[in-house]
Amino acid sequence: METAWKKYEGKKLKPVMDFNADYIEYLSNSKTERESVTNAIALAKNAGFKDLNEVKKVKAGDKLYFNNRGKSLLMFVVGKKDLEEGMNILGAHIDSPRIDLKQHPLYEDAGLVLLDTHYYGGIKKYQWVAQPMALHGVVCKKDGTTVEIVIGEKDDDPVLGISDLLIHLSADQMQKSGAKVVEGEDLNVMFGSIPAASKKDEKNLVKKNILNILKEKYDIEEDDFISAELEIVPAGKARDYGLDRSMVIGYGHDDRICAYTSLRAALEIEKPERTACLILSDKEEVGSNGNTGMHSRAFENALADLLDKMGKYSELTIRHCLRNSMMLSSDVSAAFDPNYPSVSSPNNNNAYFGKGIVLNKYTGSRGKSGSNDANPEFIAKIRKVWDDNDISFQTSELGKVDQGGGGTIAYILANMDVDVIDAGIAVQNMHACYEVASKVDIYEAYRAYKAFLENIK
Ligand code: MN
Ligand code: MN
Repeated sequence: METAWKKYEGKKLKPVMDFNADYIEYLSNSKTERESVTNAIALAKNAGFKDLNEVKKVKAGDKLYFNNRGKSLLMFVVGKKDLEEGMNILGAHIDSPRIDLKQHPLYEDAGLVLLDTHYYGGIKKYQWVAQPMALHGVVCKKDGTTVEIVIGEKDDDPVLGISDLLIHLSADQMQKSGAKVVEGEDLNVMFGSIPAASKKDEKNLVKKNILNILKEKYDIEEDDFISAELEIVPAGKARDYGLDRSMVIGYGHDDRICAYTSLRAALEIEKPERTACLILSDKEEVGSNGNTGMHSRAFENALADLLDKMGKYSELTIRHCLRNSMMLSSDVSAAFDPNYPSVSSPNNNNAYFGKGIVLNKYTGSRGKSGSNDANPEFIAKIRKVWDDNDISFQTSELGKVDQGGGGTIAYILANMDVDVIDAGIAVQNMHACYEVASKVDIYEAYRAYKAFLENIK
């Protein structure tokens, strides 16, 4: 497979770069699942999509979205064929590894106020210290209002961060294994250090001052943290990467990179034969559980609503729809890294930057365990559509056999009787604060997703 860049020499490069500029903007402004949903809905509304809950009757050609609790999103472009004949589905996740605040986060120690945290997803904890971080999320108050908080993204905002031990005093620490160099309970976030003015000899005056600021700026009390979802994420925007600007570095490529490319494909679908469906799911990084995760019945419930509004609801119709559906589980792959060649799969079974979208027949670990191993009959259909549409694609394993492994939402839909294969974009530094991907792979993925939605049958 030759480089995908070959197709975009000279003036042909502009659409690739323009698409990536749009992606960089989306990624920079979508650092939580909630922000990803809000920004996706804004784009969907612009493209003529309507809220399924606000529509009484649904017919072919309609463009609809279903917002699940602000944290996951479904979109449909209704096809001419009966839904019973199945949908063409793209599914990505919009949660990313991060560090969540505990429910009692605030404490004072040695004249400093810190935030106690519990990390979310699989991270190498030592990568998340000594960096400028931002705080994103919501605080839900007893009066029913929700306060949205973003600290650390504007140029004049303060940033937060987690300390690391100075090298001068790290003799003991440097002897520890990578998993223990920085431990989970040590991921405490620096939040402030000025004591509140006081005439008495009071304790915890720094915390008092911080609480005063929170009250003044956000009208929240300490107890309001009990009903909050606040996430510590790397501060700042995604950027071009490499002197030739061929790559993008940013927080949360996994998996907003496939979410955005799938979304852009879905937004451009008009009057399809088979219904096009986009799933942006939450909680993938922690096992896809909960009512916003892919294991939830929320997907089938929304499908039931859709069929009902077409006057075609029955339990059997839903079962047939799922059985006849085909899906690309759009999630990231591991890109070959010349700094760490030893973990790669040999013999052209690894993903490379610049060679297009990546098909993973299976993921899993220790002998494909836990994986949806896609059916070759289905893969043949995809190859045909992509070859017919001049899409650059490659196939890959997640590293060499028994080196590690991973999973996606593919098996969950496959367990619902859908034909599914993983198809996504290769990244370096997966789950680090800043991940890297190739712009041409991003563009090819968008084209591949669109070709899939329009042509697979
Ligand atoms: Mn992922
Ligand atoms: Mn991941």
